Amino acid sequence: MKIDLTGKVALVTGGTGGIGAAICESLAGAGAKVATNYRNEEKAQEWLKETADRGFDFKAYQVDVTDTEGCAKMIAQIEEELGPIDIIVNNAGITWDTTLRKMTKEKWDTVLRINLDSLFNITQPVIEGMTGRGWGRIVNISSINGQKGQIGQTNYTTTKAGMHGFTMSLAQEVARKGVTVNTVSPGYIATEMVMAVPEDIRNQIIAGIPVGRLGTPEEIAATVTFLSSEQAAFVTGANFAQNGGQHMM
Ligand code: NAP
Repeated sequence: MKIDLTGKVALVTGGTGGIGAAICESLAGAGAKVATNYRNEEKAQEWLKETADRGFDFKAYQVDVTDTEGCAKMIAQIEEELGPIDIIVNNAGITWDTTLRKMTKEKWDTVLRINLDSLFNITQPVIEGMTGRGWGRIVNISSINGQKGQIGQTNYTTTKAGMHGFTMSLAQEVARKGVTVNTVSPGYIATEMVMAVPEDIRNQIIAGIPVGRLGTPEEIAATVTFLSSEQAAFVTGANFAQNGGQHMM
């Protein structure tokens, strides 16, 4: 099956991170023009240079996903520079773990703002154009822990379970207009964050994954690229568990 996204414009939030970068490369590899946003300027410039050296031409904007006005301005700018946005991947997200007993309002609010408000800030300004043009793909990156819960992550899992509620509602709102909305829920992926976990703890995590290894960002990116394709037109409101069998639903 050949996926052809030639002429499509994609916005991937958090494209400079582990999974986001793989998604950007996969969508661009299928022919899409890809834009992203970030907070950390130095990291983004390094990423832009490194990917440009390998032939990619990504556009990157320094905009916080919690900034409603900033996101709307960025979207207008992308649409002016690249064309109307056809594909959104809501990937930017953070963890700030602690048990609820020790949870501060700041930790709760920060994770909710970044992981959930971002869905509104990025998707709302684009949805009317997508439905008007009769084609669109929205993929929301959730987590295995949004499906099974995790000690120390009441804030994070609330957002990741909430993301799929957003997916299902919006999927129903736009299904007749050629726009699909899906969730991908990765398990443990070999990103910098997971590789920074001490080896003995990482080995314990891997022991709990039936396939016996961590996932790769490229595997998540391949699913996102399929969901962004023409071939996936009949898939909407779905939640793809991609976790090596660690949590089966
Ligand atoms: P990552 O490497 O930490 O990357 C996160 C990205 O999001 C970075 O590019 C970061 O940009 C951006 N970001 C964070 N907060 C932002 C904000 N307020 N405004 C704009 N950009 C912001 O994380 P990752 O491991 O690739 O994870 C990507 C997504 O997958 C997340 O939603 C995460 O919850 C989910 N996930 C990851 C795993 C895993 O094993 N890694 C498992 C399940 C789900 P800056 O660095 O510039 O802030």
